[in-house]
Amino acid sequence: MIFRQFFDQTTWTYSYLIADPDNAEAVIIDPVLEHISQYTTIIENLKLKLVHSIDTHVHADHITGSGKLGQLTDCSTVIGQQAKVECVDRKVSEGDKIRFGSLAMDVLYTPGHTDDSYSFLMKDRVFTGDTLLIRSTGRTDFQNGNSEQQYDSIFNKLLKLPDHLLLYPAHDYKGWTVSTIGEERHFNPRLQVPSKQAYIDQMNALKLDNPKYMDIAVPANLKCGLID
Ligand code: FE
Repeated sequence: MIFRQFFDQTTWTYSYLIADPDNAEAVIIDPVLEHISQYTTIIENLKLKLVHSIDTHVHADHITGSGKLGQLTDCSTVIGQQAKVECVDRKVSEGDKIRFGSLAMDVLYTPGHTDDSYSFLMKDRVFTGDTLLIRSTGRTDFQNGNSEQQYDSIFNKLLKLPDHLLLYPAHDYKGWTVSTIGEERHFNPRLQVPSKQAYIDQMNALKLDNPKYMDIAVPANLKCGLID
């Protein structure tokens, strides 16, 4: 498997390129508009064919590169069924599979950070968007976020996955790049709670500023990032 992790320094966003080396079909997860030329360069360098551009949710902090990649490469754009994005080619829901080459990702509905948050599971790794971060969890205070749903997504879905699974989040603010399910179960401070209510209380007590580009990013992302 070909695997690359990209980082956007302005918004602390990770994007991922995954490809089947045998037939060169590739997918990208959470591309950032400003880095399109980096993605198309590596796709060209490695002679890949991008077949899907996937967003884990409607982001509030950066503009997605999905729409632009769709135009440039003819890939299909993908987002969760709950997302109010009409320009995408495919809306996925729990239990769907996203196939590329001989590889596939299972679609897991993991709401809580937003009501349209999804995770994508492969054999040895899971892409958790902003649902489960490394040593943290995604905020739940806007875009129909819900800390009770997030608790269920994390404790009753993601933490039920095998401990050895690699965990790749959509953001990191401290320099972490990858973790595992087992590592987060044991060492993620937000998950060391005695009850669901304690998790909800903890999330409600967070007082966070809105993301800098929220008023620009959300409307742009509802248009697949295709803005002037
Ligand atoms: Fe987010």
